[in-house]
Amino acid sequence: MKLLLATRNAHKVHEIRQILADLPVQLLTLDDVTGLPDELPEDGDTFEHNALQKARFAHQVTGLLTCADDSGIEVDALDGRPGVFSKRFSPEGTDEGNNRHLLALLGDRTDRTARYRCVLALVGDGGFQTTLDGRCEGVIGHEARGQGGFGYDPLFWPTEAPGRTMAELTMDEKNAISHRGRAFSRLPELLGRLPAR
Ligand code: IMP
Repeated sequence: MKLLLATRNAHKVHEIRQILADLPVQLLTLDDVTGLPDELPEDGDTFEHNALQKARFAHQVTGLLTCADDSGIEVDALDGRPGVFSKRFSPEGTDEGNNRHLLALLGDRTDRTARYRCVLALVGDGGFQTTLDGRCEGVIGHEARGQGGFGYDPLFWPTEAPGRTMAELTMDEKNAISHRGRAFSRLPELLGRLPAR
């Protein structure tokens, strides 16, 4: 079975290939298909909306069974921001800029709980669409630590890996507890919702 993963984010693709290594699907990415823009439309204010929007768009153009994810970080002291705006939280829109901006907004606040979220959407023929949600709880540190991962990982201390930031975990360790790992490890469950043919 061919499955299009509607992303061009090399970090995500790398993580997801590892998570899905044992699944009998031929994984394609946006770099393997033609006719799609560099960035798929995602203009909603929820992860669910954006994941479905990206998957529907790519399915419509390619006709392939398509899986899209939308992810980000929700910081409680900021009323859930940056949320769906995680990628371009700072004016620069770089990982370093976003992390600096987050630290500046939090200042020396002590309530620093946060969570990564990842919503997966699967879209197929005949109007089939379904979603699921993966989460990873933690707190935002006061300075960047670690070289692994990407995005907010150097600032994020997962509850399930005491004493280390997400950027200090190996990829296997990150995948075992991350929002994306949790969501994608349930991909077989999503595929199981496909109507029998
Ligand atoms: P999107 O799902 O491609 O829209 O990604 C949204 C943004 O959320 C990314 O650009 C990162 O800033 C952040 N993000 C999502 N997943 C992770 C992660 O596993 N680690 C660090 N940052 C993440």
